Amino acid sequence: NVSAPAATTLSQDKLLGGLLSAAFDESSCQSRYKSSLYRKPSPFPLSPYLVQKLRKYEARHKKCGPGTKRYRKAIQQLQAGRNVESSSDDCKYVVWFPCNGLGNRMLTITSTFLYAVLSGRVLLVNVHQEQEGLFCEPFPGTSWVLPAGFPEGNPQKLHVDAPESYVNMLKSGLVRADMPASALPPYVYLHVEQTRLRLSDNIFCDDDQAVLGRFTWMILKSDSYFAPALFLTPMYEKELGRMFPQREATFHHLGRYLFHPTNKVWGIVRRYYEAYLARVDEKIGFQIRIFPEKPVTFENMYDQLTRCIREQRLLPELGEPVSSAAANASTSGAADGKVKAVLIASLYPGYYDKIRGLYYENPTKTGEIVAVYQPSHEEKQEYTSNQHNQKALAEIYLLSYCDKIAMSAWSTFGYVAYGFAGVKPWILLRPDWNKEVSEVACVRSTSVEPCLHSPPILGCRDKREVDVAAVKPYVRHCEDVGFGLKIF
Ligand code: GDP
Repeated sequence: NVSAPAATTLSQDKLLGGLLSAAFDESSCQSRYKSSLYRKPSPFPLSPYLVQKLRKYEARHKKCGPGTKRYRKAIQQLQAGRNVESSSDDCKYVVWFPCNGLGNRMLTITSTFLYAVLSGRVLLVNVHQEQEGLFCEPFPGTSWVLPAGFPEGNPQKLHVDAPESYVNMLKSGLVRADMPASALPPYVYLHVEQTRLRLSDNIFCDDDQAVLGRFTWMILKSDSYFAPALFLTPMYEKELGRMFPQREATFHHLGRYLFHPTNKVWGIVRRYYEAYLARVDEKIGFQIRIFPEKPVTFENMYDQLTRCIREQRLLPELGEPVSSAAANASTSGAADGKVKAVLIASLYPGYYDKIRGLYYENPTKTGEIVAVYQPSHEEKQEYTSNQHNQKALAEIYLLSYCDKIAMSAWSTFGYVAYGFAGVKPWILLRPDWNKEVSEVACVRSTSVEPCLHSPPILGCRDKREVDVAAVKPYVRHCEDVGFGLKIF
């Protein structure tokens, strides 16, 4: 049982209708209770069944987590090179390893957590120094951080060709479906990377899940939001339908359950929000991400952004400069004097400079005031810098408080922000591979779910190529990644 005395005083509202556990000390992680106050209430009701599943998961994590006798026993088995036949009461683990930037990491942690819930495992995250101190513990009375001294999972060895990967162990005969659990290797590595933009075969199929389920230890590394693949695994489909009657809200709920910036990062978010965003009438976020594999010039990107703003009427039109007398005469509109804040998240300062300049030098036709802000411009991605990641996380949260969001195609940073917000973004499309400019500036997403960039093969052992989006009523191809999949 996970209830604690302090908890009972917290209202259901504060706990997001039961999404959050009541068993935490509020001051240890203020964002858990304060962050949602910066947003409109979630448009997606929570299913009581999901709440039940989360409380059950928390109890399991507490029973099996670091520092427990069961954890020590499982580690000893791993060190002894043994996998054992387990009963339903035994503890099984999935250890998450990091890959890529913060957005990718948040999406893969969420997918891995969902997998842990479905498969009866406990999620442990391998937190490297660049990610230390970013997130509060999500499960009460225990820790999700993989303790130091974990004997396996040298990051250099976690790649598609690793002999310990499930797919390779199947090929080499080290793992067979008819083996007793005690004959299986001491752990299995699940490599869920978008290798050749296809999720590795032989993972999201019932037969394979049955074999994988017999390993006490699983190590998982992924760069993809693979939750949609779980929906497509027959044995999980029904359960997921009960947990998420509105499937589109899967990341929205799980992300808001799992991630809470620590007080330090929350300080950055709160100071910025209170200084610039708290008192405005509307907040509009623009996230501009330029990927090295598809560079777009500044001029082309700026042009695309302004086309999107114009076509979708995201910001008031600029009017001809008028004299103050005329301005007084035209101040009767309802919008007049209202303040729209534009929050720009980008590694570069140029978009901010130009948009701010436009609304500094010109009035708007409606009389609305447009205030433009950008919290940082780091110039370069720094995967291994803790401070850099603190700012990135703060900006993901700030973006997620916006009423409207326009974001760069393909960016997991943007996916996380709109997923938290529960708003369907406008996506600034990537130019075709042989073009410099995207003809269509932006399209509205059909869902608040992130996109899985590498669809699994649905046919499993049949090796049939099936277009999942054509056969599953709740799956679509993504607006920004044609072969990608998105739940809606
Ligand atoms: P993706 O590469 O766009 O899918 O997003 P990721 O979050 O996985 O990786 C991009 C990384 O680059 C981020 O985690 C940040 O470290 C950095 N980055 C990209 N855009 C921004 C931005 O607008 N603000 C800040 N502070 N960092 C950014």
